[in-house]
Amino acid sequence: MPTIITHPALPLAMAYGMGRNIISTRLLLAGAAASVLPDLDVLAFHFGIPYAAAFGHRGFSHSVLFALIVACIGTGIAKWLNSLPLRTFFFLFFATVSHGILDAFTTGGMGIAFLWPWSDARFFAPVQVIKVSPFGVSRFLSPRGLAVLKSELLWVWLPSGIAMLGMVITRRLPSLRQ
Ligand SMILES: [Zn+2]
Repeated sequence: MPTIITHPALPLAMAYGMGRNIISTRLLLAGAAASVLPDLDVLAFHFGIPYAAAFGHRGFSHSVLFALIVACIGTGIAKWLNSLPLRTFFFLFFATVSHGILDAFTTGGMGIAFLWPWSDARFFAPVQVIKVSPFGVSRFLSPRGLAVLKSELLWVWLPSGIAMLGMVITRRLPSLRQ
């Protein structure tokens, strides 16, 4: 996995790119939480569930179906999130499914069970460029931890920032022309 601080980069970039009048603060916070939620499955290790099992790490909670369920639950509380139902659904689906997609670009671990429960197959992206992060927080202060943060800055934060800027410029173009 990329680190817990990097998964929210995508919903954050999307929210600021679309405009904060479109994505409410509560929806943004829900999206940030949804983007790290799939990794609660590391608890499986404590229960002795093997990595490769459907309920192991990068299993069911990293699937497209799980993202749809999170989006549906969020849509149910759209009013509380100060948002519209459809907007809430798509934003939370994007935030949750982006987790598995980022994981698929990491250099270690097993692939992602995107198609669970229809298939237990584990998928990786065609290229693995994000250095896989260590599980323990203390290990971040090691040279390997710093290398992980550097690769996340380069491969996640920088492209997210560029995409966000692109969306902001596109959004403001009509008013700039006047
Ligand atoms: Zn993960």
